[in-house]
Amino acid sequence: MSETSPHFIENKLLEMKKGAGTHSPSIASIRSKIPELEISVDACFLSNPYATDLFMQSMQEDLIDTGKLRDVLEFYPTHNSGLAEVIGPQLGVDSKNIFVANGAIEIIQAVLHRFVRGSVVLSIPTFSSYYEFAPEGVKPVFYELSKENDFALDVSDYVKFVRENGAGAAILINPNNPTGTYLTQVQVGELLEELQDLSVVIIDESFIHFASEGDDTIPSVGKLISKYPNLVVIKSMSKDFGIAGVRAGYGILSSDRVAELLENGYLWNSSGLAEYFFRLYAQEDFQNKYGQVRQRYINEMKKFGEELGAINGIRVYPSQANFYLCEIENGMSADDFFIAMLSRFGVYVRTCTDKIGLEKGAFVRIACRTEVENAKIIEAVKAVVGSSN
Ligand SMILES: *Cc1c(COP(=O)(O)O)cnc(C)c1O
Repeated sequence: MSETSPHFIENKLLEMKKGAGTHSPSIASIRSKIPELEISVDACFLSNPYATDLFMQSMQEDLIDTGKLRDVLEFYPTHNSGLAEVIGPQLGVDSKNIFVANGAIEIIQAVLHRFVRGSVVLSIPTFSSYYEFAPEGVKPVFYELSKENDFALDVSDYVKFVRENGAGAAILINPNNPTGTYLTQVQVGELLEELQDLSVVIIDESFIHFASEGDDTIPSVGKLISKYPNLVVIKSMSKDFGIAGVRAGYGILSSDRVAELLENGYLWNSSGLAEYFFRLYAQEDFQNKYGQVRQRYINEMKKFGEELGAINGIRVYPSQANFYLCEIENGMSADDFFIAMLSRFGVYVRTCTDKIGLEKGAFVRIACRTEVENAKIIEAVKAVVGSSN
């Protein structure tokens, strides 16, 4: 057996899987253990590649060609509250309500540790940091979304569950990761109205730029902070702007909570590069260019979803995010699908066997990439699902 044959690689992957327990082996560990494997498409990673291109081009012109990169690296960046003033007007939110974060993950940790106590309701399947980072004294209570209902969340049923469990806090990711399900601004408004008495209602809008309600505005509920002081909006810039390595995010919270966080640190928590990004984000010219790459990517997401949905043997759940939750329906397990996609086509997808709420079915999450990469993903899925019939 040759060292680059699909069988050789498949066997190596199976060995790795056995050693990795419930989690899928990471792309880095696969690369280091099977250097002969060529990963041609990373359909696990959830970012807009066209936005990364735009950021690179802006950086080239503004920082590299001009020599200003040195300043960005040599000097201290602006304080947290100074950056909040930079992005406030673009968000239409008072800067006193904005906490700038070193990636959304920083604010998830800060909010869970400082403002949440007792039972917190979390719909599953969901982004695991919300329960993994819960400190002592915070008890995640899972509200299970059902596949029969396409993982959609029913607001009144959810509110009832919050009451039955006597929860003091609730967390909603909208659009949700890994299901892509979406609640409209009106529905989130209803939820906030019902749950005004809770101490914290977190709405994670990390994928909100991929959702649309018919026009090209971003359907964020951030402005509702003036009406609901218990609202905490958490936003990552990693996925929509394609800059996970820059570490940029923000939270929208009551001004008291922002002040409390800032009294306890976080002064220079953004790097010079993150500051460069936030200043770019505040510019109309950049927003116009970004609007174009956003729209292009949304169009490709829709086309990609239709093409995936047309393949026999997998079921594609409706999504307003830049990925699709798929269920393999031809008897193949999610792990076997993952291994076949990787060893035969070099396409890396996310198996969901380790996701609470998805352990039982054969679920995988497939990200939308560039047009060319999407075509490769579609060919690979067709071949893999078709071959085991
Ligand atoms: C990726 C992700 C985050 C973390 O984003 P960073 O800004 O990179 O820390 C937070 N919430 C959700 C739902 C995510 O998918």
